[in-house]
Amino acid sequence: MEVKAGYDILEALGLYKSNRMELISCPTCGRCEIDLVNIVEQVRQRLPNDKKHLQIAIMGCVVNGPGEAREVDIGIAGGKGFGFLFKKGEKVRKIPEDRLVDELLEEITKMP
Ligand code: SF4
Repeated sequence: MEVKAGYDILEALGLYKSNRMELISCPTCGRCEIDLVNIVEQVRQRLPNDKKHLQIAIMGCVVNGPGEAREVDIGIAGGKGFGFLFKKGEKVRKIPEDRLVDELLEEITKMP
């Protein structure tokens, strides 16, 4: 328990990187425009084991979502029926909502 807590503290301070998935999502609110919970769950289940070191953000709207999505390795900011894909701080493209999970996972697979 104490060793694990120690690793958690080091990881939070950015001094140690574990192989745990870092999947960030917003808590959702009235602005949320995509089926966020379902998308997050599908990505969580299908994320390849060798990509669990990446920071991924899945955010519900284009108002506050892009800020967080730009800060991580790869992220989505949801809009009405679509999501903007961000990679390493850059907006890459717009993806229809029904393709979001597949295309996000395809992009993640290509990342080192
Ligand atoms: S990112 Fe958008 S949808 Fe998510 S909690 Fe923030 S304002 Fe609401």
